[in-house]
Amino acid sequence: MADLAEIVASNTVDVPDFPKPGILFKDLTPLFANGPVFREVVDGIAAHYGAGSFDVVAGIEARGFLIAAGIAYATGVGVVPVRKAGKLPRATHRGSYELEYGEATLEVHQDAFRPGERVLVVDDVLATGGTAATTLELVERAGGTVVGFTVLLELSFLPGRERLAPREVHALLTV
Ligand code: AMP
Repeated sequence: MADLAEIVASNTVDVPDFPKPGILFKDLTPLFANGPVFREVVDGIAAHYGAGSFDVVAGIEARGFLIAAGIAYATGVGVVPVRKAGKLPRATHRGSYELEYGEATLEVHQDAFRPGERVLVVDDVLATGGTAATTLELVERAGGTVVGFTVLLELSFLPGRERLAPREVHALLTV
């Protein structure tokens, strides 16, 4: 079986001082651009959760969209975008938070989920956990039940996982 941690590691480029000094940016665009690798990663996440364990996938703008759409297609469920402020056209729930580099607001449509719908939430990188914590709260405010949060890469020197506890975090690679 493929070592997904190794696959993520070898298809990630570290970019120092982006988008500002002191941040080591994990660039996953090489992973997304490689067809067999992208498929292996998406299938690996789907297999981790197992068929029928979620009803819909929510992806966090913007790189989370790529992964979420792949998992949704692979498992035959729908995909919901959690977007940056001002992008969604209808009534939304919104939440603001501090980012590793700046501040952000996320939104989800108020009617994005059926009541109790089981939602797998997906992003590319877990850093401080602010993005994920806000998203999980938005999903639940919109009526969804979060059944998992998954990332390709987790930065263990930041307190993302602790911040989300007791929720379980699934990461293909922890650095
Ligand atoms: P955070 O809210 O601090 O956990 O930040 C996670 C969000 O910011 C994710 O959507 C990531 O795409 C992005 N992000 C934060 N830090 C990095 C990093 N060092 N490299 C790549 N993306 C990052």
